[in-house]
Amino acid sequence: MDLFEYQARELFEAHGVPVLRGITARSPEEARAAATELGTPVVVVKAQVKTGGRGKAGGVKLARSADEAAERAGEILGLDINGHRVDTVMIAEGANIAEEYYFSLLLDRSTRTYLAMCSTDGGMDIETLARERPDALARVAVDPLVGLDAAKADEIVAAAGFREDDRAEVARVLVLLGDVYRVNDATLVEVNPLVKTGEGRIVALDGKVTLDGNAAFRHPEWDAYADESADDELEVRARAKNLNYVKLDGSVGIIGNGAGLVMSTLDVVAAAGKNLPGQPRPANFLDIGGGASAQVMANGLDIILSDPQVKVVFVNVFGGITACSEVAKGIIDALGMLGERATRPIVVRLDGNAVEIGRHMLTEAAHPLVQLADTMDEAARRAAELAAAAE
Ligand code: GDP
Ligand code: MN
Repeated sequence: MDLFEYQARELFEAHGVPVLRGITARSPEEARAAATELGTPVVVVKAQVKTGGRGKAGGVKLARSADEAAERAGEILGLDINGHRVDTVMIAEGANIAEEYYFSLLLDRSTRTYLAMCSTDGGMDIETLARERPDALARVAVDPLVGLDAAKADEIVAAAGFREDDRAEVARVLVLLGDVYRVNDATLVEVNPLVKTGEGRIVALDGKVTLDGNAAFRHPEWDAYADESADDELEVRARAKNLNYVKLDGSVGIIGNGAGLVMSTLDVVAAAGKNLPGQPRPANFLDIGGGASAQVMANGLDIILSDPQVKVVFVNVFGGITACSEVAKGIIDALGMLGERATRPIVVRLDGNAVEIGRHMLTEAAHPLVQLADTMDEAARRAAELAAAAE
């Protein structure tokens, strides 16, 4: 889950990371009031969108009076930045920038460590810096069991080539950013630019924080970050029903039990569709878990059939603890609940616990939309063919 810059700024402030004052505004009038409250000769009006490169896109502008702040806010509010509509700006104190640096701390899954990246050449697009001048970007592994302590911070600032005079203060700030990362279960904390002001202070002028959604259970305070505007509408509906659903952009709806089985199902469907016209691909990931009741099946089918891109649904269940007879009952009951909303063919592959009874129940029910397949490969092929034919 990504945070807005103003939310990252608040976390930084709470952990003692030096930041400048900032106030959010949703209209030019609020921007004027915010600039007046800040009372500094220069303020910066910054678009609050969860995407980078706001500066280049015209989403970061300086203003020298409260009236000018209102005017700049009027220009920025409503802008579309990389597909993100600006409905909030942050009015921040202007900084007198002497130097711009870069710092990030992120989860590096491939090495099972945290990775700190740091450069004395900040401000610019970091991907460009990493590509064009990789030597200017220090990369230092951080042991998750130790964390970003003072010794590690010293190592990072030395590797990045900070001048002796600046090292102690930058290192102090890096340790605080490490606290932000650890305490908030983040997978990314990025500051670009981290600046040195004309007065010699080190300040985080921008902030990007990504939180690990898996840790949400121990962060009730994250409820305040709920931002459904950033999410897919079907995903929001699925979450409200406690379904483990991810929207993809193909035409074969997928329902299965168990994340591993559903992921393999996505692969098999993609492979089956490869050589067909229109190359049908999976429309979603949906794991209904064990013990899928008729209600859960109905909820899942309802979400999938609400996706206008879906041409066919593939239900792939391996009965372990859940008996296939329960699943078959779930499908039949779900179709009853959905009534006329069930409009597209449903290819069903059942295997495992009580498979004979389950298949028999579906054959008996003889629902016109339901087709049984013997194997996962056959079902995938059938679903892909139906999707290709419906294009
Ligand atoms: P981003 O483009 O989305 O990364 O937005 P940033 O917050 O990083 O701002 C982009 C650039 O605007 C920074 O790299 C700075 O050069 C400049 N900038 C941001 N805030 C200030 C400020 O307070 N004073 C000055 N002079 N420049 C600023
Ligand atoms: Mn930035």
